Amino acid sequence: MTARTGAEFLDRLSKARTHVEIQGESLIGGIPDHPAFKNVVRSYAALFDRQHAPEYRDVLTYPCGPDGDRAATSFLIPRTAEDLAKRGQACKLTADASFGMLGRTADYLNSALMALASAKTWFAQTDAGFARNIAAYYEKVRDEDLLCTHTLIPPQANRAQAASQQAGGALMAHITNEDDNGIVVRGARMLATIGPFADELLVFPSTVLRGAPEDKPYSFAFAIPTDAPGLRFIAREPFDYGRSHFDHPLGSRFDESDAVVVFDDVHVPYERCFALGDPEVCNGFYTKTDAINHMTHQVIARTTAKTEFMLGLTTLLTEGIGIGGFQHVQADLAEIIITLETLRALNRAAEADAATNDYQVMTPAWAPLNAARNLYPKLYQRFPEILRKLGASGLMAAPTEADADGPAAADIDMYLQGATLTGKERVRLFRLVWDACASAFAGRQALYEYYFFGDPVRMATAYQASYDKAPYADRVKAFLEAAD
Ligand SMILES: Cc1cc2nc3c(=O)[nH]c(=O)nc-3n(C[C@H](O)[C@H](O)[C@H](O)COP(=O)(O)OP(=O)(O)OC[C@H]3O[C@@H](n4cnc5c(N)ncnc54)[C@H](O)[C@@H]3O)c2cc1C
Repeated sequence: MTARTGAEFLDRLSKARTHVEIQGESLIGGIPDHPAFKNVVRSYAALFDRQHAPEYRDVLTYPCGPDGDRAATSFLIPRTAEDLAKRGQACKLTADASFGMLGRTADYLNSALMALASAKTWFAQTDAGFARNIAAYYEKVRDEDLLCTHTLIPPQANRAQAASQQAGGALMAHITNEDDNGIVVRGARMLATIGPFADELLVFPSTVLRGAPEDKPYSFAFAIPTDAPGLRFIAREPFDYGRSHFDHPLGSRFDESDAVVVFDDVHVPYERCFALGDPEVCNGFYTKTDAINHMTHQVIARTTAKTEFMLGLTTLLTEGIGIGGFQHVQADLAEIIITLETLRALNRAAEADAATNDYQVMTPAWAPLNAARNLYPKLYQRFPEILRKLGASGLMAAPTEADADGPAAADIDMYLQGATLTGKERVRLFRLVWDACASAFAGRQALYEYYFFGDPVRMATAYQASYDKAPYADRVKAFLEAAD
């Protein structure tokens, strides 16, 4: 039982026989060396190594097990406020390594599994076996320090129809057969970020869509290895074009890959199932277990790291071309600062108001976290917009590293110099700004933040519906009636 190193992560991945379709190529394994994945996979490996760095080890891991072994802090079941704070610090330290650009770092779903396993009695309501399964699975993922991803939503064929009705029920992943050992699943789920190089795929219910009784065959939760027979991923076009860190500073490090998930009669053993044929259990999957609180606690650490990056980058941009003195530019910087301080305040409130839940888990308060997860999808969109506005033509006057070091070097040093930067320094900075606001990588980041927790429109609907507005309406009503 130990937190893995980067080498151990890569070694396991090199043995996996994951089926990935990418740009007309069918891969069965070989992921760590494929051009689309090799850089991001190494960024993930560095995160595993980080757990062992003397300066981070005490925050990123905790003693777990009889032999003095240590596990990743995201598996720690928080019993006290200090435990919870440590979890938050570990998430932030992990997010800082990629400025929050890696959205599916292991701590996200480790946090979910920690909470789900702690609430195992809730899973027992349909079958005691499910409680045992979720607890055993959490221990397996913790002890082997596996990297999980999840897939939640049905294909996007026709949103005017119930997902279970699309193509007569054939599209959405569903159970086609059950035998003595498990279930057989056929169909598809829309997306799994990092699917091609994760160790495990969690096929969980949606955090937003609610199942009805007729969704019974589509209501399940289970986990399978990403190289399970019959499972395949159809990856989108990579945004890591194999260029240098100078040219594509973010895309060449953090392009996580997103992939459609196809189940071609995948057999799932019962011990890997946590809920079967029970829309009610699936509807309460995250909320009744408080998994959503711990997932959002991780997310707020990541989005804080990302906002800090945007503030730092925008500051360098304004200094670099001498626009920091203009008031509207200062207003843009103030807007980023306000978002940052809002996230910090909401996180602090969530930790300060934490309470022990029915499963003896110290649980961050939901109200501030829920506000944060409804806010960020919209607030994030402003950052690339601000960078594009302030970067202006400089985003296009951004030749490559080969130009900065080649025959155009003298021109670049002369004509592309900034207020505080040499020509080459300015090009390097602007290429980073471009990768944060205008490249394909940047577009995907904006889309990712917008849809991170599901459709923000339907999230807002659920948010306001669950919020107790009556006391405020009553107060206004009393005021109106007093005036009469
Ligand atoms: C970069 C990226 C990575 C992702 N990674 C993952 C992942 O790892 N795992 C995973 O499970 N999912 C992932 N997703 C999917 C994500 O969960 C969904 O994007 C999100 O839930 C919204 O669903 P959808 O994309 O199918 O949009 P749709 O539901 O198809 O919505 C499309 C548009 O129609 C509107 N609309 C549709 N239906 C309704 C309705 N009933 N009422 C009102 N408006 C409606 C929406 O508001 C939206 O504007 C990822 C998405 C992106 C963009």
